[in-house]
Amino acid sequence: MEVLGARPDAKLRAKQLAHRLYARAEEDFAEMGDLPQGLREELAQRFVSQPLHIATHRKSTDGVEKLLVHRGDNAVYECVLLPYADRVSCCISSQVGCPMGCKFCATGLGGFDRNLDASEIVGQYLLLQRLSPRRISHVVFMGMGEPLLNLENVVKSLRLLHDEVGLSYRHLTVSTVGLVPQIRELANEQMPIHLALSLHSPIDSIRDRLMPVNHKWPVKEVMGAMRDYQKSTGRKITIEYLLIKGITDTPDQAHELAQLVKGVPSVVNLIPFNWVDTEQGFARPERERVRAFRSILEGRGVNVTERVERGHDIAAACGQLAGQHGGRFAKRTGATSLPVHS
Ligand code: SAH
Ligand code: SF4
Repeated sequence: MEVLGARPDAKLRAKQLAHRLYARAEEDFAEMGDLPQGLREELAQRFVSQPLHIATHRKSTDGVEKLLVHRGDNAVYECVLLPYADRVSCCISSQVGCPMGCKFCATGLGGFDRNLDASEIVGQYLLLQRLSPRRISHVVFMGMGEPLLNLENVVKSLRLLHDEVGLSYRHLTVSTVGLVPQIRELANEQMPIHLALSLHSPIDSIRDRLMPVNHKWPVKEVMGAMRDYQKSTGRKITIEYLLIKGITDTPDQAHELAQLVKGVPSVVNLIPFNWVDTEQGFARPERERVRAFRSILEGRGVNVTERVERGHDIAAACGQLAGQHGGRFAKRTGATSLPVHS
């Protein structure tokens, strides 16, 4: 930074500043008492510590808070604060909209605007941390967008969250639709973050219908890349599995899925479909169907978790709030999902 570069104590001041801005999520330069007053004034004149504007802020009765933010251009995107008894997590976006076009996803149905840069990504964490009385220790990239399509900024953000904010790589989760070359690139970054694949069906003909990406990277190939990611990082992988009634929740797919993850250190996270007006008649399966699918997996030794839905009263499911906002993504309706909490 130019302001610091001219100073003989630049290194120390940069360290102090980073600690204030990232580790402590402070935004007011005037209050950074360990920096000399002249420097504080210069920083305040020339820099903005928080580039994000809040378009909407909703609080749920269960403690979940959902924000729609933008950097002044009205291209809004979502982030969610998720407090639990034993930890606080947050769900952040990597893009405004998403170009992947998954048929069940409100974000996908709304189209794509642009990638977020690292300040807009980490800015979501910092903004949420300022709202949270407790420390946010976990971050999931499961808001808007496909993180691996914006790999450079996502990797930069993961490093900032680890190096400057001080979060453990083990507490950072990236969820992907399954882009094979980028999964391999991410493995080469040597960051032991947690990777989750949105598989949603082990059968190509069904996954093809739901997720256009499957035409390019079918089940076998994407699972191969995930298996290699697991081996090279030593981290358990998560397979996210969307249960759409009569489409992905059938017993034969449960068996096929069990076969697919056999021998791979992994967890399958079941996600009952959140209603979105897809015009395809997708429905959420009843509890009984979810239980049956789960018991087939468990009977075959698969580790299974289920997504817990939260923030219902504030439409906290990702994609939903943006649909209600009059910004560029106003055409979006319905919900996508809440992040994985396993
Ligand atoms: N693009 C990434 C991450 C964002 S989506 C990905 O697809 O993995 C986060 C999760 O929400 C994904 O697993 C996605 O498949 C799921 N999701 C999307 N629409 C949903 C819906 N209507 N109901 C439940 N989960 C949904
Ligand atoms: Fe994009 Fe993920 Fe939605 Fe697919 S599920 S359209 S990849 S955000």
